Amino acid sequence: MKNGAICGEYVHQGQHCIFHKEKQIAKDFEEFQKAIIDKLTRDNSDERIKEIDLSGYRFNNFSFKGLVFNKSIIFNKSVFKQKAEFDLCEFNCEEVNFSNTMFMGDISFGDTKFFCAKIVFDRVQFRGPTVDFSGAEFNCGRNGFIYFTNINFQGSATFVGAKFTCKQLRFWNSVFSGPLVDFTETIFDAERIDFNETSFSCESKETGKVYFRSEFHGDTLNFSSTKFHNYNVNFYDSKFFSKTTTNFTSTEFNGCTVLFDNSVFNSELTWFFKSQFSNCQKISFDNTSITGESIIFNESIFESEELSFRMTRFLSLATTSFRKVWFKSRRVLFHGAEFQSPETYFSESVVENELDFIGEIQPVSKKVFYKNVEFTPLKLKVIS
Ligand SMILES: [Zn+2]
Repeated sequence: MKNGAICGEYVHQGQHCIFHKEKQIAKDFEEFQKAIIDKLTRDNSDERIKEIDLSGYRFNNFSFKGLVFNKSIIFNKSVFKQKAEFDLCEFNCEEVNFSNTMFMGDISFGDTKFFCAKIVFDRVQFRGPTVDFSGAEFNCGRNGFIYFTNINFQGSATFVGAKFTCKQLRFWNSVFSGPLVDFTETIFDAERIDFNETSFSCESKETGKVYFRSEFHGDTLNFSSTKFHNYNVNFYDSKFFSKTTTNFTSTEFNGCTVLFDNSVFNSELTWFFKSQFSNCQKISFDNTSITGESIIFNESIFESEELSFRMTRFLSLATTSFRKVWFKSRRVLFHGAEFQSPETYFSESVVENELDFIGEIQPVSKKVFYKNVEFTPLKLKVIS
């Protein structure tokens, strides 16, 4: 059977087998379906075959729904020309690798179980209208890694109720540009969770929506240098429980509404150092609770119609710091905020408009430093 196709599979027409054939016509589809099921069954049961290699395969409207894989599977540079379904699949193996894969249509991994040491979606092109990982479970154990790196998500991406467990989870250097990015009720549990240098940049004329109403566990969470552009960003109700650091250093929010309302920050260090909020409608940390050692907003720039910390509880055990912050927002509201850290700094900050502490700030930190704060015009109201 194996006579001459480049990949070693049997020849269909010309030099390409049916799996690698550039253009499939309608009558090829049925043959393809049979052939691929055949190959998967064969490879799954052949002990000499250590991994199933589907590199460069060209799929049309193919469903893997409910299949169980007990060997590593490689989709390097494969192309899914129409919709692809991986719902309810189970991958119980060393590695699942979708590097350089191109998905042209809708793609779903609903409730798919990935129980592998390495899960790699690197340099994937998601070109269809939707990518759906709702309810998917990614479990690499405590030493494995999950890479969603260098990806282009052109349509909506949904990870609602997904669960990630691994040593390293990276969404590094990916671009989300569809109307919806949804991590609602997603549980992230990894020693390192990296969204750094990932860009959320909505292409549609209407502002897009990003939901991270999620739980973050493990050791460090990194959103440093992440860019949110033209999205309404919603971290409402999120639980930032990474043990050492929650890092929003140099994070850029541009043209957004940014909500951190009702969230809980509980890392030793929470950094909003040099974060930049520009051209925003509303930035809100209302009713947020911040514990751990310190929260640092130093050198951040807030530019919005409104910036509010209503009823926010600053409970860090060492420091709450807004040093060298540039408050450009039209209204900055700390109504009813509670400052309990032993040291709270507003030193060397610039307030362009109104900074308003009206409300019950009880009990206030023993030391609140307003040294060298420049209020232009002076509109500080403190009533406690
Ligand atoms: Zn081939």
